[in-house]
Amino acid sequence: MNDPIVIVGGGHAAAALCAGLAAAGLGPRVHLVCEEDELPYQRPPLSKSFLKNPDEALQPHRAEAWYAEAGITLHRGDAARSIDRGARTVHLRSGAVLPYARLVLATGARARGLPHLPSPLGNVHALRSAADARRLRRALAGAGAVTLLGGGFIGLEIAASARALGKAVTVLEAAPRLLARSVSPELAAHVLAVHRAAGIGLHLGVAVGGFEVEGDRLAALTVDGRREAVDLLVLGIGAEPEQALAQAAGLACGHGILVDAGLRTSDPAILALGDCASGPATDDSGRRLRLESVPNAQDQARTALATLQGRDEPHTALPWFWSEQGAMRLQMAGLLPAGATPHRRPGPTAAGFSLLHYLGDRLACVESVNAPHDHLAARQLLAAGRSPAPALACDPALPLKSLG
Ligand code: FAD
Ligand code: NAP
Repeated sequence: MNDPIVIVGGGHAAAALCAGLAAAGLGPRVHLVCEEDELPYQRPPLSKSFLKNPDEALQPHRAEAWYAEAGITLHRGDAARSIDRGARTVHLRSGAVLPYARLVLATGARARGLPHLPSPLGNVHALRSAADARRLRRALAGAGAVTLLGGGFIGLEIAASARALGKAVTVLEAAPRLLARSVSPELAAHVLAVHRAAGIGLHLGVAVGGFEVEGDRLAALTVDGRREAVDLLVLGIGAEPEQALAQAAGLACGHGILVDAGLRTSDPAILALGDCASGPATDDSGRRLRLESVPNAQDQARTALATLQGRDEPHTALPWFWSEQGAMRLQMAGLLPAGATPHRRPGPTAAGFSLLHYLGDRLACVESVNAPHDHLAARQLLAAGRSPAPALACDPALPLKSLG
């Protein structure tokens, strides 16, 4: 087929782009290169239901037959090793060489390791891929106690899953509060209280200073100068953009592959999207954003499709996020700017509420706990740039969606 489109990476961004290309009848031009030997699958369950249910299978976005019907050529269990931009070819680990007219990098991110900790150790885990999740699920079955390093989304979701399995769970977080990268201090305080009430031990502002290794296992951590025995340790200390391929090909990178509003890299024949891409959105201080979420991967796939089809549709989607931690469903719409003031709106039940954050008179971000209707209404308000007065927006007698 003429003008081949090669997509490197088989995650959420790639799956969404494949769906868009297939719907546009462009499937026969597409080669999808997936390092994992799996059909592209849903990553969010891996820290939630998948860990708790020994029989749960991966949830592929599409069946294998769908790719065949769409005319998409799948290269599963193979990886792009280098890009020859002059020749416009991608070289795979298997030795295959794929010519491209347009190349899309959707290589995602990888779990950050702990510097100086020897690797691999039998009882130390990270969670990014299906293979990681299967290994962790097996280990959890035999573990009595679980230590999570990092109180971000992944640490807290795994902590809630492990607690539901009856494990003794401890979370060690370096920052003075939980979820410092992604939610407000007020929401973080609520999350802390709910996890503590569920019996999870949470320690904030801790410093891990050393390790005790016995054979191929981690026996203990030194935490704030004390020895803490380890049965099973999971690292949830952030993710690094997977950009080595782009860097080696001479594409401009910062903390992520730099892209413009059409998701073009510094080489216009090459696009990047999802967790590996930096920008085009910026935060309130004008710094490039690299968002790590499924909605961002899906929204950017729409922009990438437009660019590949020659339409100029800059990426402007409202960022939103969700996390499930035990009985809490957290949903965040918009990015929290510095200096915003929260106003609390009661939720549909006692276990739910929303925090509406205003910067002056402007509604900037809404965080909801177990209040899915208010989350959806908040996304519509924010996307439309509407800012109902806080007194109205926080009146539970008025549906939030009626204020749009
Ligand atoms: P990924 O989904 O990471 O996919 C990248 C793929 O590229 C990987 O399969 C990788 O193997 C492949 N790859 C990398 N390099 C190469 C190469 N050279 N050749 C071929 N293939 C390559 N987000 C939410 O919004 N809500 C959630 O509840 C949520 N839960 C999560 C739970 C877990 C356990 C994890 C790990 C993440 C979760 N996320 C969640 C984040 C979300 O999954 C990511 O933001 C999203 O997957 C990003 O999509 P992506 O396509 O950019 O990257
Ligand atoms: P994260 O949100 O960056 O959180 C990591 C946390 O670990 C931060 O609070 C960080 O604190 C802390 N930390 C870093 N080094 C530490 C150390 N040495 N000791 C103790 N704490 C330390 O990343 P994550 O939770 O690991 O998630 C990884 C990836 O999966 C991300 O892409 C995330 O978006 C994705 N994910 C998303 C969801 C979701 O959206 N629901 C769920 C699971 C996973 P500092 O900020 O102070 O460094």
